[in-house]
Amino acid sequence: MLSRKEFLRLTGLIAAAAAIRNSAGSSHKRRRGPVVISTWDFGLAANAAAWNILKNNGYALDAVEAGVAVPEGDPLINSVGLGGFPDRDGRVTLDACIMDENFNCGSVACLEHIVHPAAVARRVMEKTPHVMLAGEGALRFALEQGFKNENLLTPEAETAWKEWLKKAEYDPQPNWEINHDTIGMLALDMQKRLAGVCTTSGMAWKMHGRIGDSPIIGAGLYVDGEIGAATCTGLGEEMIRMAASHSVVEAMRSGKSPQAACEAVIKRYYKRRGNKAHGKQVCLLAMDNEGNVGAFSLMPRFVYAITSNGVHEVREAGYLLEK
Ligand code: ASP
Repeated sequence: MLSRKEFLRLTGLIAAAAAIRNSAGSSHKRRRGPVVISTWDFGLAANAAAWNILKNNGYALDAVEAGVAVPEGDPLINSVGLGGFPDRDGRVTLDACIMDENFNCGSVACLEHIVHPAAVARRVMEKTPHVMLAGEGALRFALEQGFKNENLLTPEAETAWKEWLKKAEYDPQPNWEINHDTIGMLALDMQKRLAGVCTTSGMAWKMHGRIGDSPIIGAGLYVDGEIGAATCTGLGEEMIRMAASHSVVEAMRSGKSPQAACEAVIKRYYKRRGNKAHGKQVCLLAMDNEGNVGAFSLMPRFVYAITSNGVHEVREAGYLLEK
């Protein structure tokens, strides 16, 4: 399998070169058609699935759910759904949430045995009086809804886990490719409806029961159809501290572009956390309700996939710190 770096080099899809600092990812032009963005390069295939719905005047919420189902179902992606790396007990536990343009939202945390947690999150939103279900209760609900109970631990993930157990050191590094990489996706449809989703297997080798930012509305994802939407990836504990996605949407509400909003939130985080932020990766992705987008991270190498006008590309985000 190609590493992420090799993939980027071979496809040649990065729109801007590596040393883009503090500026990449912005677009202040008014967009007309639908647009979909998602974290990391594996977002390209997810965007393509979402685009099939958006281009036919489909609903943004359907598009994001269908989009992230692609990496969720891909056993070669070790950070989302099937094939996700397990916790330190060897259990694959998934976190996901989904939100529409009108504050409707649903979430599942620490869900085992279900390949598509984002679809379960949508059922939580549509079929229960709750927003969030966790663990055993989330699994029971998913099974009642007809989802299949499956083994998510692939032989490759099991081998990696056993290798990790030899030292059993938990030390998440920025963009440590085998450790983390959530997919967060935001879409604006032809009727100007915004929606978002965030889905992950979380940090590899985490303690059993650990829940990251990804299923937390306001941390891993936030959507306000009147303003914009944001999602994130990186070390979830840090995103929770700064209520990252909600902070970005609130910055847009105060008049900032999606790009300026992402930069402002990362800068504030770094100012407040100082040395404690060093060595951690925090990546923000945002879209306003006109389809303008922004992306920014604390450290280098955050890339995202964008699709508009039928053109799919991967862009590198600006960042605050060299290392
Ligand atoms: N945010 C995810 C988590 O902490 C991991 C990631 O995005 O890489 O679970």
